[in-house]
Amino acid sequence: MSQNSIPVASLGFPRIGLHRELKFALEGFWSGKIPESELLETARKLRASNWLLQRDRGISRIPSNDFSFYDHVLDTAVMVGAIPSIYGWRGGDVPLSTYFAMARGSEGDGPADCGHTHDGQGMPALEMTKWFDTNYHFMVPEVSEEQDFALTSQKPVDHFLEAKALGIHTRPVILGPVTFLKLAKARHGTFKPLGLLSKLLPVYEELLRRLVAAGADWVQLDEPIAVLDLTEGERHAFSVAYKALTKAVPDLKIMLTTYFGALADNLTALADLPVAGLHVDLTRAPGQLDDVAKAVRKDQVLSLGIIDGRNIWRADLAAIVDKLAPIVAVRGADGIEIASSSSLLHVPIDLELETGLDADLKSWLAFATQKLSELSVLGKALGGDKAVVASEIEAVSKAIAARASSSKVTNASVQSRITTIGNDQKKRASAFADRQKIQSEAIKLPLFPTTTIGSFPQTSEVRKARSAHSKGALTDAQYEAFLRQETEAAIRWQEEIGLDVLVHGEFERNDMVQFFGEQLCGFAFTQHAWVQSYGSRYVRPPIIFGDVSRPKPMTVRWWEYSQSLTDKPVKGMLTGPVTILNWSFVRDDIPRSEACRQIALAIRDEVNDLEAAGAKMIQIDEAALREGLPLKHKDWKHYLDWAVESFRICSSGVGDRTQVHTHMCYSEFNQIIDAIAAMDADVISIETSRSKMELLDAFRHFKYPNEIGPGVYDIHSPRVPEVKEMMDLLSLARQRLQDRQIWVNPDCGLKTRKWEEVKPALVNMVEAARSLRREH
Ligand code: GLN
Ligand code: ZN
Repeated sequence: MSQNSIPVASLGFPRIGLHRELKFALEGFWSGKIPESELLETARKLRASNWLLQRDRGISRIPSNDFSFYDHVLDTAVMVGAIPSIYGWRGGDVPLSTYFAMARGSEGDGPADCGHTHDGQGMPALEMTKWFDTNYHFMVPEVSEEQDFALTSQKPVDHFLEAKALGIHTRPVILGPVTFLKLAKARHGTFKPLGLLSKLLPVYEELLRRLVAAGADWVQLDEPIAVLDLTEGERHAFSVAYKALTKAVPDLKIMLTTYFGALADNLTALADLPVAGLHVDLTRAPGQLDDVAKAVRKDQVLSLGIIDGRNIWRADLAAIVDKLAPIVAVRGADGIEIASSSSLLHVPIDLELETGLDADLKSWLAFATQKLSELSVLGKALGGDKAVVASEIEAVSKAIAARASSSKVTNASVQSRITTIGNDQKKRASAFADRQKIQSEAIKLPLFPTTTIGSFPQTSEVRKARSAHSKGALTDAQYEAFLRQETEAAIRWQEEIGLDVLVHGEFERNDMVQFFGEQLCGFAFTQHAWVQSYGSRYVRPPIIFGDVSRPKPMTVRWWEYSQSLTDKPVKGMLTGPVTILNWSFVRDDIPRSEACRQIALAIRDEVNDLEAAGAKMIQIDEAALREGLPLKHKDWKHYLDWAVESFRICSSGVGDRTQVHTHMCYSEFNQIIDAIAAMDADVISIETSRSKMELLDAFRHFKYPNEIGPGVYDIHSPRVPEVKEMMDLLSLARQRLQDRQIWVNPDCGLKTRKWEEVKPALVNMVEAARSLRREH
């Protein structure tokens, strides 16, 4: 490394392996195909190659302990002995079997697609939820009021020594104690886990002492909750924790890392802590730079998170150098580090693997490996070695200028259409009450109409046919014939069991976002750009790089075919703009709201085409609307405004007779019920089967007028619910809603289930609705 470089840090590197080695090793191990030793060996190789890569790319603060078999929050729970007694652990080293039981349950195939529970019937897994506003899911630690903690794993020390043996001095990454407790959930009772801080701190102290003994000089303690709205008590917890840790282990320097937002009201409290360094996210919150620079003491290292750990665009290095140079000049090279904004866990590993991407697009992107090089160039440029990296910086500037003026990015007709969206394109022609009358005459449905959410089981035959088709082993015609056969069988079966509103089953779809992205202009797809979603499940998010438009109808053909098979209404089935946006890497050259509006217009055209083809009901799924909520409460309104508006844009082009449905994979609408109402879908289906319908109270209090299908069948479990159970749930719903509002449906799509489960469950569901009608 050059003498004149500022230290550069990556806060964590993807753990899954360039070729998804970790996934294959884990799944091989779980299914008994490979022994534990082979899994451990794969993991060791992945760590070694990550460390060497980062060293070779010029990273000076190389993380260790960022590796995890499943999840770093779970690792922390296991490290501090927060292991619920049902897992049968009795002290001593925590075996891998206990670790995986906490991750996946002791039997069964792990959590289903959009749910948070475990499939099998053995020991349940810990609950799973989203890591802040990312698509990464962590296992929620569970603590009891009498919780004792103990240092039950040496993993951070072991990995530090493992790297040391390779000649690499690392900065261990550990989830901080305040964030750990804040994310934990109270088992039984309503106490606040943060109250356990004084019991937890000695374990952290012990760990840090052992790291010092192993030779560590710096440690990275991640405290992302510092970007949330905190109470005075929570801010105080930071002070308690970091005073204790720095006092107990004075020889170790702590880099306290915050990311995914601005410190805002927490800045003063955080900057006052006796830690040796503070890291801030300047990609999510560039505006905090000046305040932070003032607040952080001269004896502290200020770590500037300027390379985006959450997105895949090449950074404008010249602009960054200009922006940061004055601060470097004031603080000196000893007082600064240049870093990724967050761990690089959230971006794919290496752009070089993408041989199929458009060359221009590729020149605008940077994945984790490329981001390491960006950091190193910045370190040199800001450290005074500008001349050495001048040509690299210039090349970046050229690519960025090319992107800005590329005709691949800009589509004049989309741009002009966006500016002409009038208010009439943002709302339905008539109010819901009027539409409801017209619709109930146009579509004759019984009380408590039955339907499903869209997908039917994606069986191994369906998946095999898809992959055979994509490999060329099945011709288009053969594949099409197969899909028609599946669809027809699904329609026939739904008619046979007496569902009122049918779906085509989504057999032709690989994924609810990818299916649409592949047919829209402005989207690109990668071959290898996997990102961990949870455990061994990885996703390959689409890249929205340009103005979005729809060259031709995307779903009309399949809808027409299915409707031609039956006299019952078949719902048109679409994914909504907010969900498509939230599950993609989004361009950073226009606001997210505008990218969303473009998608909304494309979906609007599809909705209108479905109506023109004769569809009486069109469902627009917004599975990910709620998860896009900003981390800070003050930003919610802005987000909900444009998210709701986008939904209204896509759904308001149809006449009063056409019934618009939407579906959401959750039911906690308490704080956003007005936004849900403002979407004004004629029917909304939600996930309620596990919450005893209590979550419908939000709708009741709000006097939500439109129709609602509260899920009565928990699709995350293979269990077949009885008629009686579903009737009980429906009677709970009837206590909260009017009968004319209620639809009967499962919690979510059925693609992850087996037909053997789905068939009896839906037969029971139809019977539950019929019994209710008879009683009525
Ligand atoms: N229509 C989709 C399906 O049934 C909806 C899934 C979802 O919202 N997660 O699969
Ligand atoms: Zn769902």
